[in-house]
Amino acid sequence: MSSNEQGIEGIIKFIALKNAAEYNGKARVETVIAKAFAARQDLRGSVKSLLPKIKAIVHDINLLSSVEQQALLEEIAPDEEKKVEVQSHQRSTSIQKLPPLPSAVLGQVVTRFPPEPNGYPHIGHAKAAIIDEEYARMYNGKLILRFDDTNPLNEKEEYYDAILEGLEWLRVRPNIVKNTSDDILKLHELGKKLVQLDGAYVCTCSQTTIHDLRSKGLPCQCRADSNTSLELLQKMFDGSFDKNAAIIRFKGEMADQNTAMRDPTLFRIIDADHPKIGTRIRVWPTYDFASPIEDSLDGVSHAMRTKEYELRNELYFEILDRLGLQKPFMMEFSRLELDGIPVSKRKIKPLVENGMVKSWDDPRLPTLMGFKRRGFLPESIREFVLTLGLTLAETKPPFEALEALNRKRLDPQSMRLFFVKNPVELCVQNGIPKEVILKNHPNSELGIRRLRVSSSFFIPQEDAEKFSIGDEFRLIELYNLKLVEKQSKNNKLVLVATVTGDEVRQNMPKIQWVAKNDIVPYQVIIPKHLYVGEEYNTKSLEIAEGFAESFVSTLQPDTRIQFVRFGFCRIDGNHKAIFTHK
Ligand SMILES: [Zn+2]
Repeated sequence: MSSNEQGIEGIIKFIALKNAAEYNGKARVETVIAKAFAARQDLRGSVKSLLPKIKAIVHDINLLSSVEQQALLEEIAPDEEKKVEVQSHQRSTSIQKLPPLPSAVLGQVVTRFPPEPNGYPHIGHAKAAIIDEEYARMYNGKLILRFDDTNPLNEKEEYYDAILEGLEWLRVRPNIVKNTSDDILKLHELGKKLVQLDGAYVCTCSQTTIHDLRSKGLPCQCRADSNTSLELLQKMFDGSFDKNAAIIRFKGEMADQNTAMRDPTLFRIIDADHPKIGTRIRVWPTYDFASPIEDSLDGVSHAMRTKEYELRNELYFEILDRLGLQKPFMMEFSRLELDGIPVSKRKIKPLVENGMVKSWDDPRLPTLMGFKRRGFLPESIREFVLTLGLTLAETKPPFEALEALNRKRLDPQSMRLFFVKNPVELCVQNGIPKEVILKNHPNSELGIRRLRVSSSFFIPQEDAEKFSIGDEFRLIELYNLKLVEKQSKNNKLVLVATVTGDEVRQNMPKIQWVAKNDIVPYQVIIPKHLYVGEEYNTKSLEIAEGFAESFVSTLQPDTRIQFVRFGFCRIDGNHKAIFTHK
């Protein structure tokens, strides 16, 4: 057990008992996780190790009677309540604080978020952008959004726009927006200078030769002759070479243990139409060259990138050293990965291109547009990212943790409405036509709705099949019924019941319903994990069909609601919603 997990058990117990007291003796794992994170910011990064513990505690508490739960709560409350309150109070100004930056000066911190405009932004981008922005704000500094657009084969105008749109949705507001391609002539100049300083050379070997020698740790013939390199350099920039005929390579160490130092490519010739530059530039820098130069030219004080670039740090600093340029502070954070959800452009793009998902905003995708369409709130994503913090551990945070944060925000603002999946007709023998008033939310000001009911209803098949003759159940906010008959009409199940009263009784099943005279056919799209292990999940999109109360069809697209006993949903279109989560 790590030190920050010590003492957490008492807090989890306390939170679970409080939650159980509010919900009929049954605490919910998700709620307990969300509240534990809210109370103890130091738990970020421990999600994986804490989850089994939280589950076990909740399980044990749910086995206790409510009297036992109450007694236990009273016993531990005086100590734990204080801890939870103190911690919650500390984080009242911002959601979560990142650890301080090393060597940071207030007002002089410059961070940058450098996405390549080669696809739609996903939650991995969100993590980087949010961390970069939070640090800039924390030190009253600046955030630069820099489109890292030096491969004209990949960049598209559409992607620049999608990234801007995604950041706007996340409310990440850069102080400066620029493109690496804006500086292409400066990059050329510095590349040439590096060759002139003998810190790089022009190589005209074939790709196979380069690959072969690199794996053997041997230099090629181009490396030795710096005079020839200067002639070739001239030819490279005056257009004498065909594409792929020559590259500029960093003069590193061909036998270096760190293969990133084995004379990596710094510039290559690409003939393609660049969205910002057109075809007038043919010599393009690689990420390895453009990244340190741009960071330095932009005055970045703290550069952050994911841990997989760690081996390239040596190259990054060596390039700046050789050119005598100012060096930023480099920091790493772990790449964001989620179980069953591919968080990388490399995995997402083929799914879109092969039609396995319909579009970039498919609710199964971890793209920002996908999250938005599914009903996630940008604040929940920010909180999730900051909860994970800067941890370097390659842990996959459970998607449930993000859901729990989102649920906490959606719950007070979502109307609770009725959707009946696979409807079964219910006839109430003594059901009198009347108007009922339903509250849109039990404890917030979300209004009411009125509707007329008579003696015919629909309830979910799943419930209908479970009931036996003589069973009692309650139609939520209406009345209690006793089942008197189960009929089969044209091969369809029909229930007949009789009203037995309207007082709410503890142990009676309470089910959602729609009145037969007030229904609209309705579909809920349920996104599931795209991958099961390494396999594409062919059942990743489920559609629940049924009836909703007609009021639902009056709601505008983008409205977030909760279908009672079904889950939170976002209205996606006429007669259609997308399932967000339970
Ligand atoms: Zn060569």
